[in-house]
Amino acid sequence: MLNKKHELGFFPTPLEPMTNLSKAYPNYNLFIKRDDNSGLASGGNKVRKLQFFIYDALSKGCDTIITAGAQQSNHCRQTVAACAKAGLECHLLLGGDKPKNYNGNLLLSHLLGAKIHFTGNNRKGEDALKLKQDLQTKKRKVYTIPYGGSNLLGALGFVDAVKELKKQLIEMDLKIDYIFFASGSGGTQAGLRLGVDLCNLDIKLMPISIDKTGIGDKTLAEAVLELLQQGKTDLHIQKKYTLQDAKLINDYNNAGYGVITQNEKKAINQLAQKEGILLDPVYSGRAFYGMMDHLENNKIKQHTNVLFWHTGGLPANFYYSEALI
Ligand SMILES: *Cc1c(COP(=O)(O)O)cnc(C)c1O
Repeated sequence: MLNKKHELGFFPTPLEPMTNLSKAYPNYNLFIKRDDNSGLASGGNKVRKLQFFIYDALSKGCDTIITAGAQQSNHCRQTVAACAKAGLECHLLLGGDKPKNYNGNLLLSHLLGAKIHFTGNNRKGEDALKLKQDLQTKKRKVYTIPYGGSNLLGALGFVDAVKELKKQLIEMDLKIDYIFFASGSGGTQAGLRLGVDLCNLDIKLMPISIDKTGIGDKTLAEAVLELLQQGKTDLHIQKKYTLQDAKLINDYNNAGYGVITQNEKKAINQLAQKEGILLDPVYSGRAFYGMMDHLENNKIKQHTNVLFWHTGGLPANFYYSEALI
């Protein structure tokens, strides 16, 4: 069951050196993994998770998907696109009230055919069960994907991603010492951790927390630990995981989720103007700023190879244009 997926994207995603940026930070060799180019309605990291969810939903005979997020959720946009491709109806539970204008990811989710429900203060799927029951009375066969797609099945998408990375590293004869990435709902982080351990890679993960709030009554690190403990059994990883293995770097989320500061703007400008690659202001921009801070202040070992895992998010730039000009 563990390896079955419905192909939805362009894999492997490119792994490239960041030549100009490496010159700007001469103590480090910088690389980037382009999950922003994973296909499916402008790409992103959720495509990897969705390949497992869509397979599971189809194999269970479901015809309807529910998932949840913020109005500018990349996860929701990619989920609607996946549903379009797989012929499934897609319902989104989005935080906040219906805005006058649709923009960024919300506009794209609408164009992709989402049935959108606005849920006020709830943006992490709190209303999913009620909607599921409503749809079931209408004879729909419903499959619920959790907030951010972050359960074990979703995390397996990133175990797969590490196998993909390992192959590329062998082909390129390259050793990576650190991976920086944005951690929001924990599935990417848990999958990378499990994948690195499964593949016996000597890589230090640097998850940058982009959200101060936890998930339900758990902190994000607790949620990640739970996924590690579930995953190690299925993957036969002989390791005792503790909260230490699930911890995040919390130094860059002070403004709160989706609040754009000079930091994210600086990061977006930097990568765009040095390498011609676009980040997003909520996730990858915040994580990239965290990496820049580590490089500028030599917070990690010098003369090492550092990978930024670009998780996508391009459409959100259009929604946040005012903060980015
Ligand atoms: C969802 C998302 C993340 C975080 O992934 P999680 O698995 O939720 O931690 C990072 N970057 C972008 C652009 C995302 O959409």
